Amino acid sequence: MERTTIDFGIDLGTTNSVISVSQSGSVEVIKNGLSDVTPSLVYFDKRGTKRVGLSAANVQGRSDSGFDVQAEFKREMGQRVQRKFKLANKSMSPEELSAEVLMELRNAAELRFGTKPDAAVITVPAMFELPQTEATAHAAKLAGFTYSQLLQEPVAAAVAYGFESDAERAYWLVYDFGGGTFDASIVAIRDGQLTVVKHAGDNYLGGADLDWKIVEELMIPKLQNTYSLNSISRAPNASSLDRGRMAVLKRHAENIKKTLSTSDEHQIFEENIFEDDDKSPVDLEGLVTKAEFEALASPSVDRSIDIVTKLISECGIKKSDINRFLLVGGSTFIPLVRKRTAAIGIPIGMELDPMTVVSRGAAIFASSQRLPSSRAKPMNVAVGTATVQLEYDSVARDTSALVGGKVEINGKSAPSSTTVRIDRDDQGWNSGDIAIDPKGMFFTQVTIREKGQSVFRLTVRDSGGQSIACIPESFAITNGLTVASSPLPAGCAVGLADGRAQILIPGGRAMPCAPEVFKGQFVRGLKKGAADSLDVPFLSGDEPIADHNLCGTIVHVHGKDISRDVPAGTDLEITMEVDAGGVPHIRVFVPLLDQTFEPSERIELKLESPEVMRSRKRALIAQLDEIETKANEANLSSIANSASKLSVCDDFDFIDALTEKARNGDTVASGQARNLLVDLAKKTYELKAQIDWPTTLVEYNDVLDRVRKMAAEVGDAEERKMIDEVSKEGAGAIAARDTKMLQHCGTQLQSIGFKIASKDPGFWVKMLARLSQMKHRFPDRSAAQRLLDEGAAAAQRRDVNSLQSVVQQLLGMLPSEVAAEANLAIRSDVR
Ligand code: ADP
Ligand code: MG
Repeated sequence: MERTTIDFGIDLGTTNSVISVSQSGSVEVIKNGLSDVTPSLVYFDKRGTKRVGLSAANVQGRSDSGFDVQAEFKREMGQRVQRKFKLANKSMSPEELSAEVLMELRNAAELRFGTKPDAAVITVPAMFELPQTEATAHAAKLAGFTYSQLLQEPVAAAVAYGFESDAERAYWLVYDFGGGTFDASIVAIRDGQLTVVKHAGDNYLGGADLDWKIVEELMIPKLQNTYSLNSISRAPNASSLDRGRMAVLKRHAENIKKTLSTSDEHQIFEENIFEDDDKSPVDLEGLVTKAEFEALASPSVDRSIDIVTKLISECGIKKSDINRFLLVGGSTFIPLVRKRTAAIGIPIGMELDPMTVVSRGAAIFASSQRLPSSRAKPMNVAVGTATVQLEYDSVARDTSALVGGKVEINGKSAPSSTTVRIDRDDQGWNSGDIAIDPKGMFFTQVTIREKGQSVFRLTVRDSGGQSIACIPESFAITNGLTVASSPLPAGCAVGLADGRAQILIPGGRAMPCAPEVFKGQFVRGLKKGAADSLDVPFLSGDEPIADHNLCGTIVHVHGKDISRDVPAGTDLEITMEVDAGGVPHIRVFVPLLDQTFEPSERIELKLESPEVMRSRKRALIAQLDEIETKANEANLSSIANSASKLSVCDDFDFIDALTEKARNGDTVASGQARNLLVDLAKKTYELKAQIDWPTTLVEYNDVLDRVRKMAAEVGDAEERKMIDEVSKEGAGAIAARDTKMLQHCGTQLQSIGFKIASKDPGFWVKMLARLSQMKHRFPDRSAAQRLLDEGAAAAQRRDVNSLQSVVQQLLGMLPSEVAAEANLAIRSDVR
């Protein structure tokens, strides 16, 4: 029977992937060999023969080639990186590797059904950002799916549980602790509609971290007592031999971890797992107790619980309003995880296998999604066959639904003596013979089984009562929860020159998102033909400070591409929209040039260099020291304490270790460090906001005074009006003692001030003087000197335009490290 709905659901996991299918109202997990799950692993041997899934997992345990098995590539989805198969001398991107896993799952389905599915619903973490979802859709294409639809993992899990439940109105919390990522989402069900209210998580927290802790903290120190294993490490630049040995140890560690989910201790004895540096065979032996493991796992589990508690409080709903706490992901088998989650006090849901629940939910959702009709309709219709153009909703909240259709034979409306009959596949209901009207149309009410999919068979008969072939032969309607259109995972914003983020489309808005426009100005000028560029950075996130978001693509307006000089203050219009598939479209229009600029590269996640991360860390610690001193001066001992605690917290040491790994090319570590830095920056910012109230107030009043004076002297009516508006907002912030808000008003005033000041040559002279004091910070000192001289000459001539252009060129030459020290890692030329 041909399919009219997608039916196949795939959980494309960091560690394991699963494919399920929905048919005749029930869901089946399609086995790959004997197993429900397919490890997300890819390997090519030296002859170039491919192994994916379980067969690649077997190679992982070999010290001579285990290092060459590619794992956890989902973590790098959307990044422009290549994984190398050394033995096969071959490289592949995370997208291509994911496509291999998807193909393996398609093959498993082919073994089960005889044909490869063309369409599937594929799940992605709620934390995935736009470049990552885009890459996933691309991987599906590479794997041969002509049609794919993405669904967020927590939604899929909730759909699976929704199918089993009678809840009409509820909040659920989905706690997904897998191998590579941790996701927590609050999902609401209202009138049968599912929506994600809010989600949080850590893309770099998972069961694999626990395996590595066992390896690095229990196994290696012990082995090094007996054997000569000096350089053993999993850094990407470690030798193949060492990485192979690490792969072997990790596999054993994972087994130990899994055994400890059901027993209190595990005695290991594995002979000759590999040779040490002196060629002696190494035996892995010892006793690991559950208590030992729990001590190692505890910080990671705590972190997941912290994320959940914070999520609930940020959501503005009471804990008691959450009806269920759904356990998803293999790591929820760990007793410590079960204990800590139960302690939260929300009734736990764990009736469904945490390893396959996401894929099951995806399949149920897939059964409610109609295939685009061109795919459901075969190309050649035999003469005399009836085609039925059906109209119906594939998901029904009730157990009855309206179905309409138009019957055609040989391209013409069927004669009115033709009848149609609809039979539910379990024989529990039928329509009887329905007469069609003179236009070949019919309407009827069908009765659907409760919960799940009902398949209906169509029979068309001619005037003589003879049944004739018809297309389609059947259709399906699912009774169950519908999924509201998926929300934008994170806001789309533009980074501004003063370090703020201008949010154009807030995260959570239903996709597709209509175009939003921001009208700004370039803070500096650019000469036609100059080697330099004006930068417009796009951010992914909802934080008001640019640095607290993720930097996506940057639109460069290059000097070589512009049709004339662009002076400072030139207007620009930034337009952003997001399509239904979650892909953002970005344009920068410069009216003066009548030119539109677009990102030159595909949107990707950019990782910061270890140098930038280090200087951001230094800047944060310096800020915390300053906060501590100020707090002590103001007798605010609790803030002083928090600042001093934060400045010596483990996370900072951890960042050092991670940046070291990042330097050696470990992109996962680099992502982890970035997450930690953003987290620490937010905490620092919050402390700063508390301590800063008195200073902020003084500074604000200062700026207001200064800007008012300037406006009175050289400003125009519009500028004065803007100042009045901001100062009204400021008065509100003062009444509410809202530091952040007042700082925001202060910055707004400053940029109005900047605008007014930039009309005054004195301003540029002062800027030039300041830059001249920073001479030693310019990487190209002689170029800087030339510009400084040029600027001085322009100042003498009172040539404001040239002076302005020189200052802006100098600002552009400052290295990003210097900018980072000023806590402005994201450089922008927009205000
Ligand atoms: P992902 O979503 O990252 O693909 P899964 O949900 O498949 O991950 O979970 C895989 C993780 O679960 C691995 O780290 C694995 O070691 C862990 N895991 C699987 N079974 C158990 C178990 N019985 N006890 C502890 N951990 C387990
Ligand atoms: Mg998962």
